[in-house]
Amino acid sequence: MPFSFANVDGRACLVENDAYFDLERISEGSISADPMEALGRNDEFHAIAASLESHESDGVISEATVDAPAPRPRNSFGVGLNYKDHAEESKMDLPSVPVVFTKYPSCISGPFDDVLLRGDSNDYEAELVVVIGRTTRDITADQAWSYVAGLTVGQDISDRALQLAARPAHFGLGKSRDSYGPTGPMLLSPDSFADPNDLHITCDINGDRRQDAQTSSLIFDVPFLVSYLSEIMTLEPGDTIFTGTPAGVGMPDKRFLKPGDVIRTTVEGIGVMENTCR
Ligand code: ZN
Repeated sequence: MPFSFANVDGRACLVENDAYFDLERISEGSISADPMEALGRNDEFHAIAASLESHESDGVISEATVDAPAPRPRNSFGVGLNYKDHAEESKMDLPSVPVVFTKYPSCISGPFDDVLLRGDSNDYEAELVVVIGRTTRDITADQAWSYVAGLTVGQDISDRALQLAARPAHFGLGKSRDSYGPTGPMLLSPDSFADPNDLHITCDINGDRRQDAQTSSLIFDVPFLVSYLSEIMTLEPGDTIFTGTPAGVGMPDKRFLKPGDVIRTTVEGIGVMENTCR
């Protein structure tokens, strides 16, 4: 049975329809309330999700404070130029291997948190975000989905001036200012989707549709990325991969983010993130 996981007020919960259920409570203390600890037990969430009807809920998710599903990943990766149309708008060659950078974990923020802008060249990047579910080392792409806890929505907010200030560009710093990594609101298990490799992703700025794509257009898809990274280092539960953004970012036309702008980001089936720039 698929599950939908959320971090409600700092506590690990499962969600069914509009109700959330505190995992520590309904597991009678077996599963930690800490979302990072709990994520390592995601293989058990399938069975628990099937039993939610037998429990009282803890509240209504739309009225709750929801934070990042994996708020403190040990490692957090970004992938650059991973959609053909975005590589073209960036006037860059198509990559022959994934362009991987560090999105420092301290930048991770919640699905409704403000983005605290610094400087005047900040950009949005709607992304599908992968959260690892178990210790992952040297796996094949065919095995990869079984190592993924779930998928969520993300924004890889990017300070372009900072990103491009050094030669070669230091993507890690330009994409890791405090609050530049909103994720959420839910983490859905891969079996929640008819095809987890083909999801509709959108980004609106103040109601204006800027990005609209299918994740099936990824140059390096989720199974490839998980396999590729697992050959380099051991991945652990909660590790997070921002998989890249499609065309439509602000940089080509210098449509950068301004205070007051509302960034609305969706991935089909997962939900909506809404972040206001300050
Ligand atoms: Zn990105």
